[in-house]
Amino acid sequence: MSSPGAQPTIFSRIIAREVPATIVAETERIIAFLDIAPKAPVHVVVTTKDPQYRNVVELAAKNPTLLGELVAVAEQIAAERTNGQFRLVFNTGAAAGQTVFHVHAHVLGSVNLNEQLGEDSLGAL
Ligand code: AMP
Repeated sequence: MSSPGAQPTIFSRIIAREVPATIVAETERIIAFLDIAPKAPVHVVVTTKDPQYRNVVELAAKNPTLLGELVAVAEQIAAERTNGQFRLVFNTGAAAGQTVFHVHAHVLGSVNLNEQLGEDSLGAL
């Protein structure tokens, strides 16, 4: 849980429209935007508007319904923007590449059916 008085995360600033982003989906509790440093032809960040969950493990334990909503939005984005096959990545912990401690999934995919996702799109996150 974010501590009282903690600085808002970059994602909270995007949600507040203080930082520009290309928002591609939004519901009452979830928002999705293009990753600023894409690692695949399609790379979308899907996050909760509530910043209290630092990672997917916390979200699953405290609010599994909201995790289900996040995954549903991710699936909708993948259906609209990819060839139907995609990675859904939740980095958990700094050593695993997590840099923003506000739970989010990466939707990584390709547009063309014959385009394979490279290992880089997983390893470099
Ligand atoms: P992670 O490293 O798993 O915590 O993912 C954080 C992601 O947020 C990285 O892929 C960044 O490229 C992305 N990111 C950071 N700042 C922004 C921003 N202002 N707009 C869009 N994506 C961002």
